[in-house]
Amino acid sequence: MNKTAKIYIAGHTGMVGSAILRQLQADGFKNIVVRNSKELNLIHQEAVRDFFEVEKPDYVFLAAAKVGGIQANNTFRAEFLYDNLMMASNVIHASYEYNVTKLLFLGSSCIYPKFANQPIEESSMLTGALEPTNEPYAIAKIAGVKLCENYRRQYGCDFISVMPTNLYGPNDNFDLKTSHVLPALLRKFHEAKEADSPTVEVWGTGTPKREFLHVDDLASACCFLMEQYSDGAPINVGTGTDLSIKELAEIIKEIVGFKGSIVWNSNKPDGTPRKLLDVSKIHDLGWRHQIELVSGIESVYKTRFIPT
Ligand code: GDP
Repeated sequence: MNKTAKIYIAGHTGMVGSAILRQLQADGFKNIVVRNSKELNLIHQEAVRDFFEVEKPDYVFLAAAKVGGIQANNTFRAEFLYDNLMMASNVIHASYEYNVTKLLFLGSSCIYPKFANQPIEESSMLTGALEPTNEPYAIAKIAGVKLCENYRRQYGCDFISVMPTNLYGPNDNFDLKTSHVLPALLRKFHEAKEADSPTVEVWGTGTPKREFLHVDDLASACCFLMEQYSDGAPINVGTGTDLSIKELAEIIKEIVGFKGSIVWNSNKPDGTPRKLLDVSKIHDLGWRHQIELVSGIESVYKTRFIPT
């Protein structure tokens, strides 16, 4: 990418889009185009087309999505399917119509089957049934991957799909009803410490295993892949290491300095038992994550919860 190329980041106010924006600015890109959701609602096809007609971006990072943790995915099932299908379809189709040089679509590790072999290779997509709690979101993301793959096959568009593992970092969602586990636990342990509560409730059994990537590492991977990767098959981005929710809870408890005990609420769903990505493809291209989990969580905790 030329430093003056026009780059559109769809979803720049979200955790992923804002990290990509910071990375591109740090790398000296001068011609970045953004719109917030009030200025441009990506669910509306005509609005998206009008925007592309006016701006004609050269590169597109498609980081806009309706996202949430296990409970949000399971509750707002229609919205997760409809909104994400519409956003992906509208932006990918407009990118084709307006001759975008390259587009990067962000998927998710939940596109893989619930009982995929671990670590999960990219080729396992569509080889088995999905995890029911996030099936609508996963179906929309699979459709996005397939749009990229097939616009490439039929029209020769250079559209790629990137599958990040579970993410955390600045601008995460800390709302306990809709957040993912890592920000939820930071908030729960912090508030319990402040209130001198004896216990913190953590959902599920604690046995599921998850892999966590700092969003700044994902942003660096996206910029790297925009330059280095050109293929219809998706590519995973992760650390290659996972841990149980129980281990994660212990780490966060320690970082926050909460002295009470953890109460497990097994009435809440566990979700998929394990979700560790095979990252050999991106490692072979020469990219690796930089931010280790404990220091990543410490920095998020300090920035979000400790007043300066
Ligand atoms: P998932 O990776 O799509 O399942 O999304 P989450 O990050 O929401 O959940 C991951 C795991 O953490 C699941 O097994 C949850 O039951 C568990 N978990 C434990 N406590 C919490 C919590 O307070 N919030 C959320 N979202 N998940 C929790």
